[in-house]
Amino acid sequence: MPDVAIIGGGIIGLTSAYFLARAGASVAVYDRCDFGKEASWAGAGILPPGNPDRAATPIDKLRGIGSRRFPAFSAELRDLTGIDNGYRVCGGIEFLTAEDTEVPGVWASEGIAFERLSADEARKLEPLGEVEGEPFLLHDCAQVRNPWHMRALVAACAKAGVQLHANTGAEGFADGALVLANGTRVTAWRYLFAAGAWSAGLLRAPGVFPVRGQIALLRGASCSRVLMLGKRYLVPRGDGLTLVGSTEEPEAGFEKRTTPEGIAGLLAFARRTVPALAHATLEASWAGLRPGSPDDLPFIGPVPGAPNVFVAAGHFRAGVQLSIGTAQVVCELLMGHPPSVAIEGFVLDRKLSGLVKSAFRS
Ligand SMILES: Cc1cc2nc3c(=O)[nH]c(=O)nc-3n(C[C@H](O)[C@H](O)[C@H](O)COP(=O)(O)OP(=O)(O)OC[C@H]3O[C@@H](n4cnc5c(N)ncnc54)[C@H](O)[C@@H]3O)c2cc1C
Repeated sequence: MPDVAIIGGGIIGLTSAYFLARAGASVAVYDRCDFGKEASWAGAGILPPGNPDRAATPIDKLRGIGSRRFPAFSAELRDLTGIDNGYRVCGGIEFLTAEDTEVPGVWASEGIAFERLSADEARKLEPLGEVEGEPFLLHDCAQVRNPWHMRALVAACAKAGVQLHANTGAEGFADGALVLANGTRVTAWRYLFAAGAWSAGLLRAPGVFPVRGQIALLRGASCSRVLMLGKRYLVPRGDGLTLVGSTEEPEAGFEKRTTPEGIAGLLAFARRTVPALAHATLEASWAGLRPGSPDDLPFIGPVPGAPNVFVAAGHFRAGVQLSIGTAQVVCELLMGHPPSVAIEGFVLDRKLSGLVKSAFRS
């Protein structure tokens, strides 16, 4: 009987498992497939800057914890497992439009380093083509290679003594026990549901839903910083590869596949933004299912009516950057400590009050 049984081995479940094991808990993680092969594998790994000490909202505080802790956490994973997760500060340019007028003020109040650029200055930094919006240089924007990070996390969990049960799906929680698809009942001191886009069905509570995102990977001359234009972006990997994302398709449900129109749209965006990419070759394309929520905020906290059952799901476009802050709070809650970030706005039975504008989209 583990102290904590975690359902879902994506970035949220595995980072939480690692933190809990390091805090002295015995932890078991159950995933219905292999670990870290869903949204956490598919994502772009953009890590915008942040500052937990000056963030105005709990969601920006969670992101700020990620910005601050990712460098040391990446080094810790590398020292423990020998796996480099590809974390690097590459800088970014965010193109803001008339809808984003308050964003620079939020960055300034958080103490995020940014520089407003003229169109010419932006073109001196990057080989830009047609771009809409005002360019803002973000010196501290970073990135991580998702598949590498997930491999490192799985290996770190194993080294920390976490029991890893791949291909072991859960059906739900009944009569005080976790019921696995193979009929086994698992009892634990605490349970954490972290099953990404699949969490609502498991918890039998409405809330999280899939939002498909497609990505194309190109090989060829490109930009050197992350370029962010609304919901679309280019992420240069530094080894001749550039990731182009992404679509946002809630209407696709659980259908995890690319479409010709989706990829064509991304390629057109890439060529418009950086014309040199017209000569790039398409190396790969894929789709992932983001765990969406009605107000774009994650669900983190106890499940009403079940005091030893918790949820951490619905991180939508930002689960990588929110993973460390979420795991920190999950660890505090499950170990009986007061959470270092206010969770009232993240609990399952919160009153939905429209979208809280975060300082970054992804
Ligand atoms: C195209 C795309 C681009 C993105 N870009 C970024 C980005 O640049 N930066 C950023 O911060 N975020 C980004 N995201 C969002 C981020 O990837 C997600 O928010 C994050 O991966 C969610 O992690 P998770 O662990 O909750 O879910 P997942 O990674 O989906 O993990 C859930 C796990 O639960 C398991 N599971 C499901 N059902 C069961 C069951 N019944 N029993 C047991 N296990 C089960 C699944 O197999 C899976 O392994 C992007 C996402 C996509 C799709």
